[in-house]
This record gives sequence, structure tokens and C-alpha cells, in this order.
Amino acid sequence: MSTILEISVECDAEAAEAVSELFNRFNGGDYDADSEAGEASGGGAVIETTGYDDFNEPIAGEFRIVVKTYIKPGGRGAQIRRQIEEGLWFLSRIYPIPEPQFRELREEDWANAWKRFYKPLRVGRRVLLKPSWEQAEIAPEDIVVELDPGMAFGTGLHPSTRLCIAALEDHVQPGDAVLDVGTGSGVLAIVAHKLGAAAIVATDIDPIAVEVTQENAARNQVPLHTHPGIMVAQGSVPAGVANRFDVVVANILAEVLVKLFDGEYSYPPLAEPLKPGGVLILAGIIEERAEMVVEAAQRHGCTPIDRKQEGDWVALIVRKQVAEIEDHGG
Ligand code: SAH
Repeated sequence: MSTILEISVECDAEAAEAVSELFNRFNGGDYDADSEAGEASGGGAVIETTGYDDFNEPIAGEFRIVVKTYIKPGGRGAQIRRQIEEGLWFLSRIYPIPEPQFRELREEDWANAWKRFYKPLRVGRRVLLKPSWEQAEIAPEDIVVELDPGMAFGTGLHPSTRLCIAALEDHVQPGDAVLDVGTGSGVLAIVAHKLGAAAIVATDIDPIAVEVTQENAARNQVPLHTHPGIMVAQGSVPAGVANRFDVVVANILAEVLVKLFDGEYSYPPLAEPLKPGGVLILAGIIEERAEMVVEAAQRHGCTPIDRKQEGDWVALIVRKQVAEIEDHGG
């Protein structure tokens, strides 16, 4: 009887995203019980959340996130385990994560048991992120987004993603054109569609994110490459669409946002696609770096109108000025 090695790490929402990515990188692929022992078919990361009350709200002090992965014995199994252990060690320099726990499981004990733990997650005022197999109490006004767990980016567990969803709820009007730069799993583009946005463009420099976004759009019955619907493309700030979008959202990182504003990559500057009077939602910003992003926004004719914060993470909401600043450059 073969056994499966379970590696689990208990962590906060922010570290959960990084640990999941590590597990997906080294132990990805669909979990396949019949494949050769030791093949990298561990199904990647499994995220378990516990500590909810009867209304599916997290209970303070009891809410826990555990990220797990399962490695089959023999063959590449030992190598996968070593890569993961090394990766976790490096991550522990950045995030306060505890030592990983190891457990041997009998295959039949394991099969599908984990699905019990991935629970629907409420975000913002109306959005419900939910695993496809879970039943949830759905109110008529709820916006339900189905995402598979264990995807690299945009599980909804990261504070920045939640702040962006709340900001989209504030600013997206039915019929709006919305641009999502750095779409990851496509979560924000799908939320924008469900909030009534008509034309949505979602870009990411990572080709895997483009694929995952297409899968998640299909899972949520969001049409691709139609109007209304989501157009997904590999890339960043799109060219040739100056002054077209009512809302632009970019949940990347402070340093990257500043460079995008200044047009330091080969892409058009971040504020260019935005209509005058349009709203830009900026996230992925650690509190200490908020000021540099505000300054970059102001350099490019945008005025801060709101700020949301969760823990150390900040989302800045800025508006593009209607009378654009004259370019005095020579
Ligand atoms: N929008 C999702 C994912 C955010 S993770 C959410 O809110 O949860 C950030 C994403 O930005 C990653 O998928 C990464 O590949 C992408 N990215 C990084 N630098 C980028 C750039 N310069 N232009 C476009 N996308 C970028």
C-alpha cells in the first residue's frame, strides 16, 4: 500500500499566496493517483481555511489558513520534497512562516478529503469567492465568482486582491470599460464583468496567467473576446487605447507601478488608457511605499481620491484630471 507525503504550512493570507505558488511550481500538475510513483503530479497547492461561524464569516482568533501539498513516494518524490523545503526556507526569510509539518497518509484516507476545507470567502460588500464544488447560501444581490484553489495568483486570500474588489464595487458602473493590468487568475476582471462593466481588457506579462484567466472566465460563464465580455492578452499597459477606459485596476507592486506610470518599460504610461475623469485603482503596495506611488500618480495628472488599507497593504484610488496638464517638455 503506497503512502502519500503531506507537507503543510500554517500561515497568514499574504504568505499563503507565496507558499501556494511554491507548491504549484515544484509539485504542480493535476493530481493523478494512477501515474508513475514520484511523478510531479501532486496537484499543486491545496488551501484549507477553517474557523468560520454559521454565516460563513471568519471568527477572529480562530480563522486559520493551512496550505498543503501532496507528494507521491519514490522517483522524483525526494527531489520535489527537497526543492520545496529549500523554497520554504527562503520564503521564511521574508514571511514569518512556521516550520512545515510532514505527515504520511494512506492514499485512500487522503482521496478528496481536503475538499471539505476550502470554504466560500466573502469579499467586499457583495462578492462571494467560492470553490466550484461547494454549496453556499447565495443572496440575490451576491456576485458569485468561482475560482479553483491552488492557483498562483488571485485566490482572493491576498489583502491586495480584497482591497481591489472593494474598490471595484465603489467605482465600476454598468456599461463601463475596465482595464485590468496584471490580471493573474482573472479574478478582478471577472468581478468587473459581474458588476456590469461592458468592455473589459485583462493583460498579464505571464502567459500562464492568460491561460488561467481564460479558464476562470469560462468557469464563470463570462464571454471571451466579445462585447460585453473579457478580452485577455499577454502584455501590460496596452498601446493605441489612449483615453478609453473608465476604470483601470493594477494590483502589481509599488516599484512596478511607479515604472509603469513613468513609461519605463516598453509599454505606454499607465495613466494613458484612462479617460480624463476616470479612476485608477492601484494595489500591491506596502504602506511604506504608498507615498512613492502617490507621487508617480501626481506626476502624471492623477489626484488621490481614496485609500483603503488592510494590515500593511494599501490600495490607492486616484482620478485622472479632466484638464490634462500641458506637456512643457521639450
Ligand atoms: N489581479 C490579480 C493578480 C495580482 S498578482 C489579483 O488582484 O489577485 C500580479 C500580476 O501582475 C501577476 O500575475 C504578474 O504576472 C503580473 N505582472 C507583473 N508585472 C507586470 C507588468 N509589468 N505588467 C503586467 N502584468 C504584470
